[in-house]
Amino acid sequence: MALFPQGFLDDVKAQTDIVSIIGEVVSLRKTGGTFKGLCPFHEEKTASFNVNGEKGFFKCFGCGVGGDVFSFVERHQKLSFPEVVRHLAARAGIQVPELAGGADDRAAAAEREALLTLHEQATVFYREQLDQPAGGRARKELENRGLKPETIETFRYGFAPAAGRESLHGRFADLKVPTALQIRSGLVIERDGGTLVDRFRNRLMIPIARETGSVVAFGGRALEAGQVPKYLNSPETPVYTKSRTLYGLDVTKGAIRKHNYCVLVEGYFDLAQVWQAGVQPVAALCGTALTSAQSRILKRFASKVVISFDPDAAGRGAAARSSEQLVAEGFQVNVALLPDGSDPDAFIQARGGQPYTELLKGSRPYLEFLLDRASAGRDMTRPDSRRTFLNEMLAVAATIPDAAERDQFADRLAHKARVTEGVVRDEIRKAAAEKRREAPALAIRSMVRLRPAEQGLLWALVRRPVEGLAAVGQLDAADLDGLVSASILSLAASLADVPPDVLPNLLHERLGEDERALLDRAATAEVAAAAPADCVHALKRLRWRRELAAVQESIEQVQGAGDQADRDLADLWKRKKELLQRLEG
Ligand SMILES: [Zn+2]
Repeated sequence: MALFPQGFLDDVKAQTDIVSIIGEVVSLRKTGGTFKGLCPFHEEKTASFNVNGEKGFFKCFGCGVGGDVFSFVERHQKLSFPEVVRHLAARAGIQVPELAGGADDRAAAAEREALLTLHEQATVFYREQLDQPAGGRARKELENRGLKPETIETFRYGFAPAAGRESLHGRFADLKVPTALQIRSGLVIERDGGTLVDRFRNRLMIPIARETGSVVAFGGRALEAGQVPKYLNSPETPVYTKSRTLYGLDVTKGAIRKHNYCVLVEGYFDLAQVWQAGVQPVAALCGTALTSAQSRILKRFASKVVISFDPDAAGRGAAARSSEQLVAEGFQVNVALLPDGSDPDAFIQARGGQPYTELLKGSRPYLEFLLDRASAGRDMTRPDSRRTFLNEMLAVAATIPDAAERDQFADRLAHKARVTEGVVRDEIRKAAAEKRREAPALAIRSMVRLRPAEQGLLWALVRRPVEGLAAVGQLDAADLDGLVSASILSLAASLADVPPDVLPNLLHERLGEDERALLDRAATAEVAAAAPADCVHALKRLRWRRELAAVQESIEQVQGAGDQADRDLADLWKRKKELLQRLEG
């Protein structure tokens, strides 16, 4: 039997909400921290079937059946374990790793295990250094921020010494950690001459943990004026994927579950301040807009989110993207606006925790906020500006999964746009139905999001195989990295020599169930999202953007490594410039 890497299984499980999976086939009622319903595995009239979303298991006290989300689907749908895993992975939008031999898997698992131990040792090392005389500047930084000893202990802050003093790689050498593993962790960097240096030097260290509490990465804040970058982060490693990590959950998930809401902030210290101010259901994004993986993790703990970001222009952009993501995932989203130029960290430091909690209480529904913002500055007496406003908002309305909430939004929208409610409701229903037609209720539901460029190509492969094949032939393997449709597109590319008219059937035969459903879904749309050539171009741009992010990461790493490596840096800048030119061209 195929063995899936444990880290992958953990990811799938972490991003699957057992309550909503079981809720699709069993009517569940919330009682306290768990959900109850009638057991689907034995006949009963009183509910003895329990689902615990936070812990991720179910248990029937009538017939004794129980287990995790994998065992539920396995038993309920009568699927084999690998089938269940593939199904849930597709649903969560996680690519199933190529299965290597069993020995490789065990080696990879052992390496991940070793990396977790090493991160724990690093956390202890940095924490010790904070109490050393050299840690004075870092202690002062925490003190200036008004962080209390309890907060410092809870979040396990530390200090990475400057070069020439104690070093993490020195500690690792004492602990006999193999050099290759040290480098693999991203915490130690090897220079040209083969000498080792610490990645983080003279920085205030913030451990980033999984929700289980295992430290998997670090953020390091600069301590001197002019030290760049201000925040240096661990690179992605076999134990750390940035887009799938929410900072602080290891400490706050219990409170989030209990209150059924989460305050979402941007930075490490925003989180610490908000937590210290007594608002314990809080999580931080740390630098990016919310990803769908992150929102699925959040979904397991709460159905309501209060966005509390820096309201400057960038904050609004990230806040808007994050909010739209959350609305589409069915969250109730509120926005707590801070005074201009302020973030929760600065706000609480300046004014204290009480005004901040007041501000949270006064938070407004995101959709209301959106309507106000979009209509502000528009002359609603003019039909054309009413029309643009309506169209913009209809696109948002179509993503609201709950019908009652959609109608409510329609009424407010009608009021703003000065049209009758019926008209808007009809338009929204049309738009929402359109979305549903694109995604029939097959095994894979709305969870898997095809990019328009992917939909366009899949559509072409089925409806216009000649054009579709020609377009797919222009893609390189690297263009497909991370795409939900990667396996379908690469299969199509490998079929370039078959007569185009048999292609759709051949694809159908050779694809797995989930992929087939994905292909069907893309092809049932009446039109393609874009012409094949445009889709190819869009996917190339996406790849360049990924490469740009990787180059940027390397630049930060080389800069973080300090003095030498000017040549590396020059190469990286050149590569960055090339990519930027391509993206702008
Ligand atoms: Zn039962």
